[in-house]
Amino acid sequence: SSSATVYGAPEKLPLTETHRVSPFNPYGVSKLAAENAITRWTDAAPERRAVLLRYFNPVGAHISGKIGENPKGRPNNLFPFISQVATGQQAELEIYGDDYDTPDGTGVRDYIHITDLVNGHIAGLAYAQNYKGSEIFNLGTGKGYSVYEVMRAFEAATGRCIPYRIKDRRPGDIAICYADAAKAKNQLGWTAKLGLEEMCCDGWRWQENQSGEAKK
Ligand code: UDP
Repeated sequence: SSSATVYGAPEKLPLTETHRVSPFNPYGVSKLAAENAITRWTDAAPERRAVLLRYFNPVGAHISGKIGENPKGRPNNLFPFISQVATGQQAELEIYGDDYDTPDGTGVRDYIHITDLVNGHIAGLAYAQNYKGSEIFNLGTGKGYSVYEVMRAFEAATGRCIPYRIKDRRPGDIAICYADAAKAKNQLGWTAKLGLEEMCCDGWRWQENQSGEAKK
């Protein structure tokens, strides 16, 4: 389980697996160190095999509403934060910059439904049965959405209004990041099937269950 964070600031979009790696935060550095350690391990003996999956922005929850992410304290990531604004646990969404070089000025990311990510792992495991060595795959949809687009989609899916305020850029944030998902499609036979609407609906089902549990 690696991360698109290993790429750092994109030199060229979409990001292919051959893009240079240059992580700028400790999380990305640790992911790259793990990739390197695993690759050395597979290189050291011919029968060893590994599939390195670079996640883009996994969001949403299982469709049952019973398995999801419940971050402690104030969530750092966009989706859990928006979910908590919708339930009233947070007063408003703080948008970290609306002056990026993107169509609407807010940051663009490749959000991927957690269920698609799970299926990417299953495809990766199947691939590793007939492969020797280490192979890297991006797990993303290949499509980017801005903060405003995510917010509007969440409002449409939930019928709740998301109050927001524009703040300064968050240090270390990049403007745009999205995957070239062709390698996973061609070699794993995997593509993301679920869209932004399912990410919002399923994430909201989980969040509502959490809020209900918290009130009990
Ligand atoms: N973001 C935001 N407000 C928040 C959290 C995130 O405006 O409370 C923006 C952030 O600047 C980025 C996008 O939403 O453009 C996704 O951020 P997230 O932390 O979820 O993912 P990452 O930046 O790690 O890709």
